[in-house]
Amino acid sequence: MIVRDPVRPLRSTSVVLAIGANLGDRRATLEAAVDDLRRTPGTIVDAVSTLIESVAVTLDGADETAPRYLNGVVLARTVLDAKSLLAATQRIEDAHGRVRAERWGSRTLDIDIIAFGDTQSDDPHLTLPHPRAAERLFVLDPWLEVDPAAVLPGRGPVAELRRVLVGGAG
Ligand code: AMP
Repeated sequence: MIVRDPVRPLRSTSVVLAIGANLGDRRATLEAAVDDLRRTPGTIVDAVSTLIESVAVTLDGADETAPRYLNGVVLARTVLDAKSLLAATQRIEDAHGRVRAERWGSRTLDIDIIAFGDTQSDDPHLTLPHPRAAERLFVLDPWLEVDPAAVLPGRGPVAELRRVLVGGAG
């Protein structure tokens, strides 16, 4: 029989979320999404990066003609398991009018789970860490801003990943 100590707090997991929007009032949407994350049961938001602009990326690559994105990174702790956190972030996306018509298409709000503790998973429903995080300066830069010592589980220090991505120029 498992006896849970009634006074011991639930163990929380450190998580890294990337938020982005390229339609509507992007800043207002992202700020509202952070408020929603703060209100998510069992979840504490520890840091929110500066929001930065980036060019839209589609399946065909960068699209200068599409509306530009505003992106940021949120550091949080949660007692939710990874799938429950994904369900919570998808509810927040839906609450802000996200329409999933087109993969990689424009959206009023996108929330990706970049890292969930040290968890590594190749489940397509929830791949951890996020498989494209290391290729995205709009993830790495705001993440480094809020955590200069950040490490992408299984991949190494984010500062090093960034250096590789910019070809040693940054
Ligand atoms: P997208 O439209 O590009 O935001 O992709 C959303 C889909 O990616 C959803 O069906 C999720 O189940 C799936 N997914 C897989 N891994 C992740 C992740 N780390 N964070 C968020 N969504 C993910």
